Amino acid sequence: MTEPLVRRMRGYGTTIFAEMTALAVRTGAINLGQGFPDTDGPPEMLERAAAAIREGFNQYPPGPGVPELRQAVADHHKERYGLAYDPDSEILVTVGATEAIAASVLALAEPGDEVVVFEPYYDSYTAMIELAGAVRRPVTLRPVEGRFTFDPDELRAAVGPRTRAILLNTPHNPTGTVFTRDELEVIAGLCRDRDLVAISDEVYEHLTFDGAEHVPIATLDGMRERTVMISSAGKSFSVTGWKTGWIAAPPAYVRAAQTVKQFLTFTASAPWQRAVAYALREELPWVARLRETLQANRDRLITGLAAAGFRTYTPAGTYFVQTDIRPLGFDDGHELCRALPSLAGVVAIPTQVFYDDPAAGRHHVRFAFCKRPEVMDEAVARLAALSR
Ligand SMILES: *Cc1c(COP(=O)(O)O)cnc(C)c1O
Repeated sequence: MTEPLVRRMRGYGTTIFAEMTALAVRTGAINLGQGFPDTDGPPEMLERAAAAIREGFNQYPPGPGVPELRQAVADHHKERYGLAYDPDSEILVTVGATEAIAASVLALAEPGDEVVVFEPYYDSYTAMIELAGAVRRPVTLRPVEGRFTFDPDELRAAVGPRTRAILLNTPHNPTGTVFTRDELEVIAGLCRDRDLVAISDEVYEHLTFDGAEHVPIATLDGMRERTVMISSAGKSFSVTGWKTGWIAAPPAYVRAAQTVKQFLTFTASAPWQRAVAYALREELPWVARLRETLQANRDRLITGLAAAGFRTYTPAGTYFVQTDIRPLGFDDGHELCRALPSLAGVVAIPTQVFYDDPAAGRHHVRFAFCKRPEVMDEAVARLAALSR
């Protein structure tokens, strides 16, 4: 039989997450690969979802999203960032940030257009750029003084006459970088000068550490009018299975994304929208406690990884630690990750698969720390086997 899958998707067979999660299941290793929490979100939020189902909130909600969630997102952005969005024309509820990214890229990039992405990239970015028939222009984030950043000249060089958008992610998965105002100003300057859209994935907006400030690029001068700001409930409220996300953008961009979105899914599931509207209003103190737990997990994991021989990069946000494996005597992350269950009973993700430039990514491996403290302790104890 000939391969039925369209050519442009053939490089996207199984994701590294499926491979590494299967490896964890097969070997009984602790899965610090895929980034999902092993505890539930705020109990009252869960109760609100159950109540919505019991109360018959179970039919198609409006295409743009349930009004109370759109209002809650608008209020959140106003209170937290001073960004005013009209809930009726400037907010769109999506099936997770994943659909928000898909709808934005498919709606905004013509075949042949170029989209600048920072590598290591989130895997759905490249798949969607490919599906749109567009071309990705990667800019590599490299460690400089302990954190990953980009070279402004490389970014400038990546923007050409066919560039339509810069797709950024801050706080950044997998490196843990929270872009500073200065870094964002470089990106914003290019967007303004070259008339580009910023597609900004901010799903970790609430998960920053040591007081690091998350700055939405839409708050920079002249950027609100050219930014598609994306977030989601999954990471903030530990409900990655709810797949409830949103876009905030000027009306023309929301209309564009919605035109695509209506034929991907038409609308997002109703009960979660109600519960998330509640959580955005009432449960940010719960998120603050989550942040503290995560920061303690982070510190524990970094200490353990360093003792085991990894070079670690302390993340200012997200729930991942990016490492360099070369001090351990390895230089291929994929090889180490395949061996890690037998070497140390732990599974991680080789981040080289998120780079176009194999040399830049080959020696990097990502560990998640969104698991219960006792699971993190056990993982750290097991990793100690590497230094014996
Ligand atoms: C988890 C994640 C997403 C996906 O969010 P969903 O709401 O689950 O679709 C998007 N971007 C990044 C960087 C992520 O880590």
